[in-house]
Amino acid sequence: MSTGCPICGKPVATAFRPFCSKRCADVDLQRWLSGRYVVAGADDDAENPLGNGLSEDGREE
Ligand SMILES: [Zn+2]
Repeated sequence: MSTGCPICGKPVATAFRPFCSKRCADVDLQRWLSGRYVVAGADDDAENPLGNGLSEDGREE
């Protein structure tokens, strides 16, 4: 894997893998944190249809 920093594409620095600098690591952390809130809400919604489908499948037997 030699794609470079996922944020800016520059060569990765060993100290900040997989990023090129602390700044890019910080940017990714912010994205991850803000994305986590969205995922948490979506995950809660997705759990209901999955549970219902499983329950219905068991009832049919
Ligand atoms: Zn970078």
